Amino acid sequence: MIIGIDIGGTSTKLGLVDQGKVVARKSLPTTGHASADAFADALADAVGQLTTDNEPPTGIGIGAPNANQLTGIIEMAPNLPWKHDVQLARMLELRTGIPAVLGNDANAAALGEWRYGAGKGCKDLLMVTLGTGVGSGFIVNDQLVLGSHGNAGELGHTTIVIDGRDCTCGRKGCLEAYVSIRGLRQTYSELDGDPEVLKEEGVLCIAKAAQQGDTAALQTFRHAARWLAVGLANAVAVTGPERIVLFGGIARNGELLMAPLRERFRQSLLNIYHGRVDLVASALPDNDAAILGAAALTTL
Ligand SMILES: [Zn+2]
Repeated sequence: MIIGIDIGGTSTKLGLVDQGKVVARKSLPTTGHASADAFADALADAVGQLTTDNEPPTGIGIGAPNANQLTGIIEMAPNLPWKHDVQLARMLELRTGIPAVLGNDANAAALGEWRYGAGKGCKDLLMVTLGTGVGSGFIVNDQLVLGSHGNAGELGHTTIVIDGRDCTCGRKGCLEAYVSIRGLRQTYSELDGDPEVLKEEGVLCIAKAAQQGDTAALQTFRHAARWLAVGLANAVAVTGPERIVLFGGIARNGELLMAPLRERFRQSLLNIYHGRVDLVASALPDNDAAILGAAALTTL
């Protein structure tokens, strides 16, 4: 039994994981706590409610944005309420008496896919999350790549267009600025899409418009496919994965993205990789993927 915790900008979800299945769940708001200590108290409480005395969990895995696995610290995450470094793994260990591991949420998702999902059995895997941001995790030779500072695998912040769009990281032209939800919405707007469509949040509104034949919406997905294909092909040239798993709301819109993406990816790929890299969507149930990934951090 392992506890998996996924810390998001608005809510924190936790689950009790038994042999790759989430068997019990809880959630609490991430915001509204007086301090990081108060949040850790609430989190420890929730962990307590998930566990029973006769079968205590052997570990806690926590996935969070800007979390550094080497230090166990959440480092100034822009989307979390605390603007200082938070030693969350240690804070939770002290409160629960259960060993805790903290890791970057994208890395956790990659581990979840690798251990339990569409990446099962791969020695070399790339997992890319397409959502509010663009996260990625690289498994190379059966190991998650952390790098010497603990924050390797940031495909979303590799430059795809020199002097391109402003990115949330403060640089220009990052892949994230083109294929995240915000990126797709910007593309749709630049293509003179219907402003009414964008009154709805997220990316589902553009997908719905595309399904009704809206030209700008269809173009938006084709453009996203073009940028993403180049980003993925570049990554393949570096680590040579046997499979790429795409996760998140944007990838979930069926063939809208996947069809043009497969085509563009084939064209962008270095010759030696032709026919050798699978491109698939996640096989994990949406609600559980982040919890399973966080739990998988404890298996490293
Ligand atoms: Zn960036």
